[in-house]
Amino acid sequence: MSAVATTCPYCGVGCGVLASVDAAGAVSVTGDPQHLSNAGRLCVKGAALGETVDLHGRLLHPLLRAPGAAPRRAGWDEALDHVASGFRRIINEHGPDAVAFYVSGQLLTEDYYVVNKLAKGYIGTANIDTNSRLCMSSAVAGHVRAFGEDLVPGCYDDLEQAGLVVLVGSNTAWCHPVVFQRIAQAREQRPSLQLVVIDPRRTPTSESADLHLPIKPGTDVWLFNGLLAFLARHGATDAAFVATHTNGLADALAAAEADAGDPAEVAHICGVQPPDLLEFYQWFARQEQTVSLFSQGVNQSSSGTDKVNSIINCHLLTGRIGKPGMGPFSITGQPNAMGGREVGGLANTLAAHMELANPAHRDIVQSFWQSPRIAERPGLKAVALFEAIELGTVKAVWIMATNPVVSLPDADRAKRALARCELVVCSDIVARTDTNACAHVLLPALGWGEKDGTVTNSERRISRQRAFLPAPGEARPDWRIVCEVARRMGYAQGFDFAAAHEIFDEHVRLTAFRNRAAAPGGPATAPRVLDLGGLAGLGRAGYDALAPVQWPIAATSKGTARLFADGRYAHADGRARFIATAARAPVHAPDREYPLILNTGRVRDQWHTMTRTGKSPRLTGHTPEPFIDMHPRDALRCGVRAGELARVHSRWGALVARVQHGGGVLAGNVFVPIHWNDQFASDARVGSVVNPVVDPISGEPEFKHTPVRVEPFAVRWYGFALSRPPLAAADLTYWTSIQGEQFLRYEVAGHPRLDDRSAWARAWLGATDAGADWLEYEDRSAGVYRAAHVVENRIESCVFVSSRPELPARTWLSGLFEQERLEEADRVSLLVGEPSGPGADTGPMVCSCFGVGRHTICDAIRTQGFDHPAQITASLRAGGNCGSCVPELRQLIAEVRAAAAT
Ligand code: SF4
Repeated sequence: MSAVATTCPYCGVGCGVLASVDAAGAVSVTGDPQHLSNAGRLCVKGAALGETVDLHGRLLHPLLRAPGAAPRRAGWDEALDHVASGFRRIINEHGPDAVAFYVSGQLLTEDYYVVNKLAKGYIGTANIDTNSRLCMSSAVAGHVRAFGEDLVPGCYDDLEQAGLVVLVGSNTAWCHPVVFQRIAQAREQRPSLQLVVIDPRRTPTSESADLHLPIKPGTDVWLFNGLLAFLARHGATDAAFVATHTNGLADALAAAEADAGDPAEVAHICGVQPPDLLEFYQWFARQEQTVSLFSQGVNQSSSGTDKVNSIINCHLLTGRIGKPGMGPFSITGQPNAMGGREVGGLANTLAAHMELANPAHRDIVQSFWQSPRIAERPGLKAVALFEAIELGTVKAVWIMATNPVVSLPDADRAKRALARCELVVCSDIVARTDTNACAHVLLPALGWGEKDGTVTNSERRISRQRAFLPAPGEARPDWRIVCEVARRMGYAQGFDFAAAHEIFDEHVRLTAFRNRAAAPGGPATAPRVLDLGGLAGLGRAGYDALAPVQWPIAATSKGTARLFADGRYAHADGRARFIATAARAPVHAPDREYPLILNTGRVRDQWHTMTRTGKSPRLTGHTPEPFIDMHPRDALRCGVRAGELARVHSRWGALVARVQHGGGVLAGNVFVPIHWNDQFASDARVGSVVNPVVDPISGEPEFKHTPVRVEPFAVRWYGFALSRPPLAAADLTYWTSIQGEQFLRYEVAGHPRLDDRSAWARAWLGATDAGADWLEYEDRSAGVYRAAHVVENRIESCVFVSSRPELPARTWLSGLFEQERLEEADRVSLLVGEPSGPGADTGPMVCSCFGVGRHTICDAIRTQGFDHPAQITASLRAGGNCGSCVPELRQLIAEVRAAAAT
């Protein structure tokens, strides 16, 4: 088939993808050169999409589970009737606010639209919230306060046109790699483009910066209030802009001066060197073309909304907004966080950027929908929603395309809440997740490549996700499932959509309905910037052919790259607002019992809870295991060592992972990635440790600041196994499973004594028949045991155990699983764990695109004297595709050269 133009389903960059399916059914993807957000680039996650679309582990049929029973297969009619009658009964008995929906930035806009319509317009509850609450709701609240509407002013081109890019709370190189590549390429072409990174951690992003400010977690408002005061004092105010287009400067400036008028004190509070702080302030003051890009490091905080506004204030003061190469820029974590916001998928908003609290807006939406009712007050935001489920005030919840038992803060509470809930419905593409284990009804949804609709990325660009694979099993699009339930609840009139383009058309028309000009006799409201009227009436053919386009798209326009060029904002008076932002410490401070601060975030090659990226050997090689990254000094104090296991405790829960000293974490802090869960590890859900405090305005949780303690996790032995068939690991004290190429890798550890290691290994690896080709080695006094199971001269499995965590490298052994037959030399080396010849162990994966390992790269740097990543790329190809590993190449060059100098 010819390539289908679609959109990557991962991060908010929203890259265009060309997907093809060959005669054998294999899917390959390339970047779409016509898509202006990425112009053909992809990061390694996008490039590996073809490896994640197999049906292994998919939910293919509806399942029903009675309390205490195993799930049983059900037909669609039975499952849908069960959901509809369950919701109807609970609404009748307890009112509409006794039911709720918890949806996802992974949904398409059309899915989001119908579920929001069902909840707010027909059931009459605003209890519909989304996992986007967890990543960017502070940005939404900040935008609404400053601009009058949830509006991202700029576009990605601005990052290339800027003279100064400030990345705040964003490991862009790993979390939004294609945007980072665009910045990196612009800097290569124009070295005067300066890059400042503000982040408590040293990351691959900060390694590339001209200036890194490793601020103490939670001190961003001090930093930006200090900047506001500095700019005002040093003549950087655009007085004409402020006078004509803004309100509220005096109060904001007074608050900034009160908190942060003295740069020396600000530097002290933020924990940065005073000259570095001043240098940043001076660069910002001098450079008119400045973009401040911010992400979860800003948003995920108990003062996230104030942090956002403290950044926006600096752009309003200097008039640096609405023009090329400048502006505050919120980059979203998920592919359709913005599309969800457009249709009102948050508990405090209505569709089309209208507000629940505004009676005129409620009237507009209800009139347009002709719905029997309209929710009149904001619903429960994510954390409060799960508290209400635990309390029993919400008795039915429908969870779509998200995994709250992993991703919410205080995640064990979410698990307890679902265990107590009368009716838990989950729509998902995979059968087994930590959340689906709590479901009474499981509904199979279509996944990426199968479903059809639109998404909106961080620069307001609406793009099509197009289907190029058949619907598997009995899976259906989410919007269709919602419409089926709505019809069964008696709401046939509002949900008689036959295809996704009809839903899109209704959404588009609603954005233009009574917008700008009130209907005769209708209530007057300020115009809304979100206007997609130019896309009305596309029909199926126009929808199928829709090219990526940035909103607003009013009737006569072809899209809008940049907002506010005319100096008009969405507040009723057309002016932007300065917000007086208060510098506040995070709610929970470290103390004697919990002396360290837990920060959480993503790793380069994984996405969310790994249901898709965990399938790709290319993606699992870079960071195979959950880890606790901490400063060596803290590790010493806590009595833990790199390579060993440790437990992280907070007041809310605990996890176990392997300690590492990545070098990027400040003393007093630890970092744990968000991805691992009970499907991939024994006890590594960081959500269970994170505190449930939220920002009082946005409701976004404080994921970046939880007091914790770290202590040794005692085991008697460490080990790993590689095996073609899956192994049962649940009984082991510690385990992580990792998908390899034609095998599964298990990193394990145990507390119980292994008295008869041979019997244990044979039983675990399933090599119990007497005729098994079984190679083994044991050194009992050293606590070392190694064994391999070989079938017809092909390796079937192997296991390595030691009383110490130091074990042979896995890379060479992994490569043996790709061989049809073991060479004689490999059999000899098998239990040594490394090849007899030189150079065959390439080391841990650095470049996932070309499979280039750390040892290979370091050898090349050493022997060939490389001092620039481009030389490594020219020699080994590493870094030559998606570029995600280029910051690590730079780091390896520095490490090798530093080692050579000592
Ligand atoms: S940067 Fe990577 S993950 Fe994000 S949309 Fe592009 S290809 Fe997908």
